[in-house]
Amino acid sequence: MSYVYVKSKTIMSAISERRSPSLNKNKVSLVSCESYDRVKVDEAVEEAFELLGGPESIVEPSSRVFIKANALLPSTPEKCVTTHPEVVRAVVKQVMRVTKKVTIGDCPGGGNASPYLKRVYSRTGLESVAADTGAILNFDTSVREVTVKEGSQLKSITISNSMAQSDVLISLPKFKTHELVGITAAIKNLYGAVPGMTKFAYHSRFNNADDFANLLVDVCIAAAPKFHLVDAIESMQGEGPRQGEKILTGFIAAGQNPFAIDFLLMMLIGKDYHANRALHFAIERGLFSGRSEDIVVVGENPKNLSVSDFRLPLGKEQSAPVPEFLMKKFAKLLTAKPIVSPGICTGCGKCVEICPESAISMEKGHARIKSERCIRCYCCHEICEFDAVSLSKPTLLRLARHFGF
Ligand code: SF4
Ligand code: SF4
Repeated sequence: MSYVYVKSKTIMSAISERRSPSLNKNKVSLVSCESYDRVKVDEAVEEAFELLGGPESIVEPSSRVFIKANALLPSTPEKCVTTHPEVVRAVVKQVMRVTKKVTIGDCPGGGNASPYLKRVYSRTGLESVAADTGAILNFDTSVREVTVKEGSQLKSITISNSMAQSDVLISLPKFKTHELVGITAAIKNLYGAVPGMTKFAYHSRFNNADDFANLLVDVCIAAAPKFHLVDAIESMQGEGPRQGEKILTGFIAAGQNPFAIDFLLMMLIGKDYHANRALHFAIERGLFSGRSEDIVVVGENPKNLSVSDFRLPLGKEQSAPVPEFLMKKFAKLLTAKPIVSPGICTGCGKCVEICPESAISMEKGHARIKSERCIRCYCCHEICEFDAVSLSKPTLLRLARHFGF
């Protein structure tokens, strides 16, 4: 790994740097943290902030702050699907050193209806964080159109009004793999700024992985977060973002530049940045250099936190994507296919509600996918809280990987 590494600072030296006018936007703080013990997370999050100049360098006493966690669905923290509530709590505590006007929330995958939102907040632990800290939980589901001049897929994007109208948006991603776009971290977490069913409409419109990954970059720009702090204490590898395997990665990474953060994360797990498709397009679009030496890491030496044998989803395991000519010709034969297990499906109907192509119907009390209509967006796999949707890996993809395509 080659990057500029600045040794861990004392809080005093961090404070003197805070007064420096030249805050390096490519600076990423990296702090070791191996458990969700409240005291340890508090210390790690405080250090991650202080290494970058403290919360005062991000928010002002008059700022209205929205803290956007990953609250994909009503999942409990130990499942490793959502941002751990201890991380959210520690960030709220830091921000509240400067301003008490703090709202926390997300636009979950299963929609924005109030009872569903309440269940998501309760199961993910965000409700308790709000009750303990005095932060407000967001139930405002109004939306706003945001213009993105540099947008590649869209020049105008619908995002949550509460996030858009906050003075400072802080994003708290969970570090996970993602079947469609490789990785969900700093860039992808902002897709949660897109409300309810609009998410699925975008999936339908940008219905191949690369168009969608490019859209993620547009959304990240539209949401304009000022700060990102990634919960990579426990991360998810393999079949993320829902049914992967938990892995102790043991760190927190924070900073202002989502592209620099995602780039560093890819280096830490020893994978080529192309495997994070949104990052690939951000670099292709000149939003980040793609040069490790342009990242200034402060805090822990990255060499001490590198993760070996991190498993990406099968389709993203190698550095180069499947060549475009193969994808065009054999798209369905080269992508995983969602399958419902009738024995596990409860018939809740959530997947029917959100499928952007109306490819799912209820038959005899269970969901059934019409394969010919399916665009392989994996929204059903992502939102089924009962793990009833699995992904069947096609033989042709395995063969293509085996022969090095
Ligand atoms: S597959 Fe999952 S989301 Fe769809 S109806 Fe069955 S349990 Fe509900
Ligand atoms: S069936 Fe699942 S993967 Fe296919 S289009 Fe519908 S939500 Fe997407």
